[in-house]
Amino acid sequence: MNILIMGPPGAGKGTQAESIVNEFGVPHISTGDAFRLAIKQGTPIGIKAKEYMDKGLLVPDDVTIGIVEERLQQSDCEKGFLLDGFPRTLSQAEALDDILSRLNTKLDHVINLRVDREKLMARLTGRRICKNCGATYHVLFNPPKQEGICDKCGGELYQRSDDQEESVGIRLDEYINKTAPLLTFYEQKGLLRQIDGDQEIGAVSTEIASVLRG
Ligand code: ADP
Ligand code: AMP
Repeated sequence: MNILIMGPPGAGKGTQAESIVNEFGVPHISTGDAFRLAIKQGTPIGIKAKEYMDKGLLVPDDVTIGIVEERLQQSDCEKGFLLDGFPRTLSQAEALDDILSRLNTKLDHVINLRVDREKLMARLTGRRICKNCGATYHVLFNPPKQEGICDKCGGELYQRSDDQEESVGIRLDEYINKTAPLLTFYEQKGLLRQIDGDQEIGAVSTEIASVLRG
């Protein structure tokens, strides 16, 4: 099953990806995670991406599309995949169609998580992530059992540098200007399913699973 999860920054894509991966056994492909790994490893792509990510801006399409193209060709994607955070521009969406058609496949589901802008700021500024396994928490809405420590692996939790109030505003504007128009693109293809992302995490997961099970 080839799934795309969309929604503004902070809508809960990464959080929901954890349950989708558990239930449907598809690999989770997050361009944000891929860039953060490249930055940690100090690769040329990481150095380039960091310039934009630190400012809350989208990384240029050529860099981003290349990463996804390479990832989708790996054998674990033959049974399906979950794309999170890509595409974010119309050019990326068109490139994705081309890549998938070359691989003789297509998207089966596009899920859009809807959350109002006012709620997103609180979600993003309170987000904490495990340094070790990448699990996502929130200081108020989804706290770990022990402050600063991951429930799943005992790893240390950290705050993303672009989750400060200043970058969050820019990221939300980038979303409105460049990514939100993609909803029409997928609606016209008859693929888009809207989910209310402003519910308990478990309730959102249940709705997503029922859409994916068809
Ligand atoms: P995205 O991947 O879309 O940017 P995340 O999954 O990282 O979003 O979620 C952003 C923040 O909001 C995290 O701190 C997460 O714990 C929290 N969060 C996710 N889903 C919900 C929800 N349904 N209700 C409240 N907080 C949530
Ligand atoms: P995310 O982890 O999805 O919130 O992404 C973090 C940052 O990575 C974004 O603010 C962008 O700077 C960059 N990024 C992630 N995915 C993309 C993409 N598809 N296109 C451009 N930039 C991206």
